Amino acid sequence: MEKIYNYIDGDVAAPAEDRWLDVFEPATGQAYARAPDSSADDLKKAMSAAQSAFDPWAATSAAERGRVLNRLANLVEERAAEFAQAESVDTGKPLRLAESVDIPRVAANLRFYAGAAEHFASESHAMGQDAINYTLREPLGVVACISPWNLPLYLLSWKIAPALAAGNTVIAKPSELTPMTAYLFSRLLSRANVPPGVLNIVHGRGAGVGQALVDQTEIAAISFTGGTSTGKQIAKSTAGRFKKLSLEMGGKNPTVVFADCDWDRTLDQTLRAAFTNQGEVCLCGSRILVQNEVYERFREDFVARAKQLVVGDPLVNGSDQGALISAAHRDKVLDCIQLAQDEGGEVLCGGTPVNLPGRCAEGWFVAPTVIEGLPAQCRTNQEEIFGPVVTIMPFDDEDEAIALSNQSTYGLAASIWGSDVTRCLRVARRIEAGLVWVNTWMMRDLRTPMGGMKQSGMGREGGFESMRFFTEPKNVCVRYD
Ligand code: NAD
Repeated sequence: MEKIYNYIDGDVAAPAEDRWLDVFEPATGQAYARAPDSSADDLKKAMSAAQSAFDPWAATSAAERGRVLNRLANLVEERAAEFAQAESVDTGKPLRLAESVDIPRVAANLRFYAGAAEHFASESHAMGQDAINYTLREPLGVVACISPWNLPLYLLSWKIAPALAAGNTVIAKPSELTPMTAYLFSRLLSRANVPPGVLNIVHGRGAGVGQALVDQTEIAAISFTGGTSTGKQIAKSTAGRFKKLSLEMGGKNPTVVFADCDWDRTLDQTLRAAFTNQGEVCLCGSRILVQNEVYERFREDFVARAKQLVVGDPLVNGSDQGALISAAHRDKVLDCIQLAQDEGGEVLCGGTPVNLPGRCAEGWFVAPTVIEGLPAQCRTNQEEIFGPVVTIMPFDDEDEAIALSNQSTYGLAASIWGSDVTRCLRVARRIEAGLVWVNTWMMRDLRTPMGGMKQSGMGREGGFESMRFFTEPKNVCVRYD
């Protein structure tokens, strides 16, 4: 079985205690690799390397840090096919998606922050004729980047690129469920002339080495993306230690469809919003709200399209939906579907596991599922499922659409579909979400702030927001006379 190693102080390293975790291919249900189940000892080495590397890296010019990130982007692009294949095998997502979204985005993240390193600037504030303030933006030190399994290298690079661009050194902890592409990436670091200790990648369980990383007193900041309960745990663990925290967490995002929407485009795109990556994207629209006068027609057309989605081997061209990340997650999703029925919901399509022949016979597949007839406040409409399951609900008017959208403890994203743009913009303003799309979904400009309100997040990533997060402002006031 293939072995995955930590990357510490410029070199690959086996875990100090020689403990390993099985890594599974979701499409086959079989273990195909082993990854370190790292411990505090591995972390100690990573911390010491990152601390030694900090001063020289912080003193490196922004232009040189940018060159390093650009070299990494080039190396990822040269191996795009290998990375996409590895990401698909590790996550169960369709290869086509990894090729068209995940891996291009890794290179884009690295290039974007290569540029940001040089373009990031600080403010100065003149005080009449008497004095001037200028604000320095200094790197923080050693920072932790903790990422989830749904977009493994995409989200890891979204964190490490700004952290490094700003002059920090990093200890990254990828999800234990999807360590492969972070490992392949670590093997490129020395070729890109990333100095030893600048980026350390430590693999292992969240409750193990993840928690130990959060508990390190020397860590200056934690950038985390994952579930809300884990985010809460990290906030509790760090309370009183005043570390900078950026928490990107779960969502239960509304998709608001007005009767005057562009019909075919809305169906295509709301289907994409519902089921991309098997619904395992934090931004997926899992509560579809449809205006009464077109509710029945929309439900019929949407369900017909959902039924046409091909659930298949992620490596085979033509598969729209791959496997869910783990057997436990597949079971959780199926339990959620059962709960929806217990709550009075009617399953309009899907609702069951999909059994494929051949190499995927033991894989963790669930059919795209659409459920109707549930009230807004039931658990199915309140709790994140993070799978190929959506509910569909009618609404009368703009006010009701907004009220239903906001009846959630989450506030990550929303999409609004309609041709009355003024109305869409009014709704966009009143919806409680960090990201709102009008007549589009998951269209991302890397300069814009990304993150959620309420239980979905604390802080924002993206553009200069990330550069601000990964730096400490220091104001210097100079009097002239
Ligand atoms: P998770 O919270 O279980 O794990 C995320 C990461 O945190 C993993 O690396 C895990 O090992 C680590 N971790 C777990 N417990 C930890 C602890 N006590 N201390 C430190 N680290 C710990 O999340 P997941 O299941 O990997 O990902 C799915 C979740 O991520 C969903 O809720 C989804 O909505 C969310 N997500 C949010 C965004 C966003 O931008 N808001 C993006 C993608 C995914």
